[in-house]
Amino acid sequence: MSDALLADHEAALQEAVRSFTAKEITPNAGEWDRAGRYPRELFSRLGELGWLGTAFPEDVGGSGGGSVHYAILCRELARGSAGIALGMYVHTALACAAVHHLGSEEQRLRLLPPALRGEQIGCWAYAEAGAGSDVSTVRTRAVRDGDGYVLDGAKLYITNAPIADFSVLVASTAPEQGLRGLTLFLVELDRPGVAVGGPMAKLGMGASEMAEIVLEGYRAAESDRVGPEGTGLLAAMKVLTLGRIAAAAFGVGLGEAALEAALAHAREREQFGGPLVRQQFVRFTLADVATRLEAAWQLTLHAARLVDAGRPHATEASMAKLFSTETCTWACERALHLCGAQGYMLESAAQRFYRDCKVLELGEGTSEIQRETIARALEG
Ligand SMILES: Cc1cc2nc3c(=O)[nH]c(=O)nc-3n(C[C@H](O)[C@H](O)[C@H](O)COP(=O)(O)OP(=O)(O)OC[C@H]3O[C@@H](n4cnc5c(N)ncnc54)[C@H](O)[C@@H]3O)c2cc1C
Repeated sequence: MSDALLADHEAALQEAVRSFTAKEITPNAGEWDRAGRYPRELFSRLGELGWLGTAFPEDVGGSGGGSVHYAILCRELARGSAGIALGMYVHTALACAAVHHLGSEEQRLRLLPPALRGEQIGCWAYAEAGAGSDVSTVRTRAVRDGDGYVLDGAKLYITNAPIADFSVLVASTAPEQGLRGLTLFLVELDRPGVAVGGPMAKLGMGASEMAEIVLEGYRAAESDRVGPEGTGLLAAMKVLTLGRIAAAAFGVGLGEAALEAALAHAREREQFGGPLVRQQFVRFTLADVATRLEAAWQLTLHAARLVDAGRPHATEASMAKLFSTETCTWACERALHLCGAQGYMLESAAQRFYRDCKVLELGEGTSEIQRETIARALEG
């Protein structure tokens, strides 16, 4: 990857995360994937190193590094374990970022410092059995009751739910208003009225834990509401662009890991009297994967630099997310193909990358939703 134009502080962060990942994550990634979890201490370690606070300002315990730093962090962690990168990203780019951008000063100062130190873990609970790409179909209700609310409903596919302390959760305070009736709430997962289901078995991202969250008569105080009533998800969709940039960077890191696995295999494996890497088809495939990943990284960096410069970036973030995650899926498929039967075996890293990649095209707005966003911007 061409990182020649990274500033010194960006290159230093990249080097630090890369070396940490190579030592502490990559050697254990296969085992954590099979176990369906990773040690909680790893989260605290990311906090101690100051990396969970990369995209947050110093008043809440962040390092003020901004979106480029955050993209570098996501890319490097994803090279080691996509599951761990997913858990970190849901915690920071969704749960913590929602509190930071939309929460009150009291909520920011109370929740973010321990969360950015890795002492508290957050999750983002939007999806439901009936609510996916169409955000207006959320059924979880928050009904006014005295000076607070009572919440009822069920959230599905919630990353981090089994290990999380709190959730930023989307509920409807005015069902007749659809999207404009959605409101964000802070839900503490150990309080009465909330139950977290058992771990959900999934195709990839094995190390990240996922579960259902069921609310039955959960009492939320007025001070648990994040932002005004009815503006919750609309506002979140505007400010949580960091998530799309993170997904794009994630795609680059995972794609690079797949490329490295394919290159190592092609150098080592001999067929037709020499290493596979001498075959033109293999060489050209590797060259195409490297070129597209480079393009994906440059799009990602560009979108992140726009954010840090305070410039409009919604379309560029969608373009980066769309291109990078689709490139990642293609790169992981090509890498598995080049690794042949050896790559297909469950002990290989190539098959893990192949299983991990697909969800990047689904979360944070599917590819079709990104295309729609870009097309709308073209229409003006
Ligand atoms: C590993 C994993 C982790 C997740 N973690 C979380 C989490 O932490 N929190 C959370 O809230 N959710 C989470 N989700 C759920 C995620 O939010 C949803 O997958 C996402 O919102 C898409 O919804 P859906 O999967 O129901 O797909 P659907 O919306 O049902 O879409 C199915 C297909 O139809 C296409 N489609 C839908 N509408 C249109 C349209 N108008 N035009 C063209 N095509 C369309 C989609 O692009 C997609 O290909 C996670 C999912 C997975 C797999």
